[in-house]
This record gives sequence, structure tokens and C-alpha cells, in this order.
Amino acid sequence: MSNLPIYLDYNATTPCDPQVVETMLPYFTTQFGNAASRQHALGWQAEEAVDYARQQVAALVGADATEIIFTSGATESNNLALKGAVEMYAGKGNHIITCVTEHKAVLDACKHLEKQGVAVTYLPVDEKGLIDLGQLEAAILPATILIAIMYANNETGVIQPVQAIGRIAKQHNVLFFTDATQAVGKIPVQVMTDEIDIMSFSAHKLYGPKGVGALYVRRKNPRVRLTAQIDGGGHERGLRSGTLNVPGIAGLGKAAELCRLQLAAEGQRLSQLRDKLEGALLELGGVSVNGDREHRLPHVTNLAFQYIEGNALMLGFNKHIAVATGSACTSASMEPSFVLKALGLADELARSSLRFSLGRFTTEEEIDYTIQKVSETVQTLRKLHPLNS
Ligand SMILES: *Cc1c(COP(=O)(O)O)cnc(C)c1O
Repeated sequence: MSNLPIYLDYNATTPCDPQVVETMLPYFTTQFGNAASRQHALGWQAEEAVDYARQQVAALVGADATEIIFTSGATESNNLALKGAVEMYAGKGNHIITCVTEHKAVLDACKHLEKQGVAVTYLPVDEKGLIDLGQLEAAILPATILIAIMYANNETGVIQPVQAIGRIAKQHNVLFFTDATQAVGKIPVQVMTDEIDIMSFSAHKLYGPKGVGALYVRRKNPRVRLTAQIDGGGHERGLRSGTLNVPGIAGLGKAAELCRLQLAAEGQRLSQLRDKLEGALLELGGVSVNGDREHRLPHVTNLAFQYIEGNALMLGFNKHIAVATGSACTSASMEPSFVLKALGLADELARSSLRFSLGRFTTEEEIDYTIQKVSETVQTLRKLHPLNS
């Protein structure tokens, strides 16, 4: 293999598509205007670029362009959604419902809100990583203002029953917010059919640049209102002040367009490669898939390797293949993944789990190499394991 290491960590971040970079470049130099400068052509050009990107992003998720707010990424979008809704709807109630396997950007924002007196229900997941809709419905109280359930999990790729959640939320007159960072651009996410009221996503997970993201905020049926968390200047309809990151936004727009055009074919190509990888590694024996295999992103597999020490497994091939352990990437300690533990995995098995996430530049040759390298490492390490001798 010439291009080592092989990158199979697309859920952590994606490279920018070269066409995205090309789209961004003029906005750093010749077309450097401030999109809020209404008095001259440089400002108008920048505003036009932002408007165009807003349409490209809206088209990807079936929204209206006026419903897209640009932010610095999904972490900010999640914070704005949660804190902005809690603040805006304080008169209605102070209870939100979320789930134990959410991204830290949701869980930590919820913890922050709890300190301020907000009641938070954390729904469990079953051994497949899915929430129970009956439990969700039972958790709704008169004081509930928001249901926050992610679209697809970043570690396992498991897709929640979003459409059903949206319907339940609507029936109970509760807002439905979803962190769709891992789903948008990969599978068909449509805010109308999925009955989503608020949705966050990020450019760097869909072949755009880092540091730019979006929040979809529904404008009708119902009209969602959020309290801004960053004040000053009134940009983005007053929801997110600050001079717009024009190159980044233009890049996100282009990235969204490319994803929209390639989504169906890429989903098929990647699921075939993923299934090839997964199938070959399952044949080693003592390997199992973490999370539901049916309701899952096409490009992700999270595998538990029995009778192996997790660290050793990584060290065995991480010079050649970039993958992630199941554990949260935020933590330098070897804490086992809270997501995998929520599925009921013992600490040891959670530690010896690996997430393989494929993407646009993954080739079959790379998958073949990965199968060979991981299989070798697993077989070598198992010979050393006391339970095998
Ligand atoms: C990556 C990720 C985030 C954070 O996105 P940033 O743009 O890096 O802040 C939030 N939620 C999920 C599910 C993610 O995968």
C-alpha cells in the first residue's frame, strides 16, 4: 500500500473534498468581504455566497433556506438548540428528554442545564443501542419542552427511529431536536418526513472544513423559537451573532451539494465495502458487531474482539490503519466507551472494540489490506492470550 496509514476514521472527521477547497479559496483573498457590509459590492458578493450556500445546505435536508442558521459546528449547534429552547420555553416547563448514548456536546450541555434546575430524563438503550418508544412516550410530562435524540450514533452508527420519535413529539406538542451530525450527507435525512423541529450538523463530518456547522430551526408547523446564546450584531436572524465565516460557509454549501448528488451511490458502495470488512473479520470467530446491524449507517462497523487486550490490538496496526477504539475520543485515559457500556458490554469487551468508519476516499484495495492486517494482528495476539493457551 502506498498511501499509509489507511484512514478508516471518517466518523471523527473527513478530509475536505478538493472541490470544496476550490469553492472556498476566493473568499479568503479577492472576495474577502463581510457578508454584513451592505454598502458595497464586496459585501454583496459575500452575502450572495452565503445565501447560495444556505440554499445548498437546505436542499440536502429538505428545509427552506430561511430555516438554516450557520454556526461554528455541531457542538455550538447542540448548545444553541438545548440552551436556546430551555430559555425560550421556560414558561411552558423545564423538562427535557434525551438518551444515554448522545454525543458529549449534548450530554454536557444537559448537565449544565441540570445545574440550573432543568430536569433531564436520560433514556436507556437496549443491547442494540436503540431507545424504546414506549419508554420515550411514558417519559413525557406536562412540563416537557424538548426531546433530544441523536439521528445516528457516532460510535456504533446505530440509527434511532427518528420518524416515530418525531411523530410522538408532535402528538404531545413537544419539540423534537436531533443531533444529525453523523447522518446528514450520508443517508437521506429529510426534516419534513422525519418531523424534525431542530437539527444540528457539521461541515467537517461531510467533506467540508472544520469550524463550521449549521442548525436547522423549523419556521412553520410549529414555528420554533430559540433564545440566542451569542449576542451582538444580530447576524443569522438574531440567533447567532458574529461575522460570518464566509469561506467556511461556502465550503459547507459545496460539501452539502456534493453529498446530495452522491449520497445514494456512495451509500451503496460503502455498505458493500463495510460488509466485506465486517464479514471477513467476523469469520475470525470471537468477534461480534456492537449495535443494531439493520438500523445502521452504511459506512460504519463497530466490532468487539474477544480474548484480546484493546490497547494491544490498536498498537498492532495503528501505524498502518487509522481507526478508533470504542472509547470517547475526548478522553486521554483508557476509560471504556460509555456508549458501548450503555449497550451492556463489559468493560473489557468495550475496551477491545474498534470502530471502522469508511468514507468517500476509501478503496477496495484499502479494505483488503485492512482485513489482512487486522486478521494477522488478532491471530497473533490471541496466541498470547492466557485463555487460548
Ligand atoms: C462530531 C460530532 C459532534 C461535534 O461536532 P463539531 O462540529 O466537531 O463540534 C456532535 N455530535 C456528533 C454526533 C458528532 O459526531
